[in-house]
Amino acid sequence: MAREVKITGKKPDDDRERDREARAGADARADDPAPPDPVEEKLRPQRLAEIIGQRAVAERLAIALAAAKKRGEPLPHILFDGPPGLGKTTFAGVLHNELGVELSLTSGASLDKKMDVMPYLTNAAEGSILFIDEIHRLPRAVEEFIYPVMEDFRVDVVLGEGMAARTINLPLKKFTIIGATTRSGMLSSPLRERFHMHEHLEFYEPEDLARIITVNAAKLRVEISPEAAWELAGRSRGTPRIANSRLRWVRDYAIARADGRIDVAIAEDALAMQEIDSEGMDKQDRRYLDTLIRVFKGGPTGAEALAATMTLSVDTIRDEVEPYLLRREFVVRTPRGRLATASAYRHLGLPVPERDPEEDLLDPQRRLFP
Ligand code: ADP
Repeated sequence: MAREVKITGKKPDDDRERDREARAGADARADDPAPPDPVEEKLRPQRLAEIIGQRAVAERLAIALAAAKKRGEPLPHILFDGPPGLGKTTFAGVLHNELGVELSLTSGASLDKKMDVMPYLTNAAEGSILFIDEIHRLPRAVEEFIYPVMEDFRVDVVLGEGMAARTINLPLKKFTIIGATTRSGMLSSPLRERFHMHEHLEFYEPEDLARIITVNAAKLRVEISPEAAWELAGRSRGTPRIANSRLRWVRDYAIARADGRIDVAIAEDALAMQEIDSEGMDKQDRRYLDTLIRVFKGGPTGAEALAATMTLSVDTIRDEVEPYLLRREFVVRTPRGRLATASAYRHLGLPVPERDPEEDLLDPQRRLFP
């Protein structure tokens, strides 16, 4: 197996770290905090054939892999975007295993200065992969520094200062940069354009999550009924990482409270104990909807105001809480802010206000001048 090197640990984002601690004991939903969880690593697919769901993405990557192998050239630079836990890191690892090349992992937040990225660039082997997680957090100076790397496999190093300064071009081996982001909109267009493939990862269908849960239950040597796998899949917010975390909790519950086998009743009891409801929403999701509806009268309101009221970081709100609520249409985003939909009121068991909040989408003026 090809070597995997972590050149710089993921620098924890203080605010998000705090949010995670506040949620401790509940669910791991955010990016894996370093060091990586060994059980999660065991569950991670290693080969393209083990990838479940995301068929269109997997097929395009299979073409890119086959072409790179036949031409004897590195893979093109690839950008993955999508909410946390959908498989961006997994795909990068799979590509490195399929090609049998070296993989180095780093994060945009860890690369403060140009010199932070230099060790990899100068040591990169021909055809190797550099995975940059949270690439939207690269400082502009570092981003501009890697443009010539991505285009021509060279770096421009300035030696000396002022009048005596000279630029030398340092040729590099040809390698691949794989970027991952939860916020593709925050990427500058010059950086985005330097990626030859852009792959957007969507939330998973329950069928795919049920397969992931069944495969991973076998890896964890736990027996699960198809109905229970389906139940967990429907309550995993469309996200494999959450499905894995729910499965691990339910397995522990089944061992502690029963004979270790997971059936629907065990799954339901275990999830109820973690306050995960029938839609798979956890306490934080419900608190978000409750804050939007009770404090902000259903909206529209901005993410910053919601984050401040909930004492969460705005990044946690934007990256981890909102994407799935938007996808489920519990919330809609308008130019004037977030609005709770009738489904959100119903989900919390609250009466839907007479004026359907969704109408505000079509006519925001109605809120100002009813
Ligand atoms: P991201 O980098 O997007 O935050 P990861 O790649 O770390 O997400 O995925 C989280 C976990 O979900 C992985 O460890 C793996 O077990 C599981 N996973 C992700 N995508 C898939 C997939 N397509 N098939 C099976 N398991 C997956």
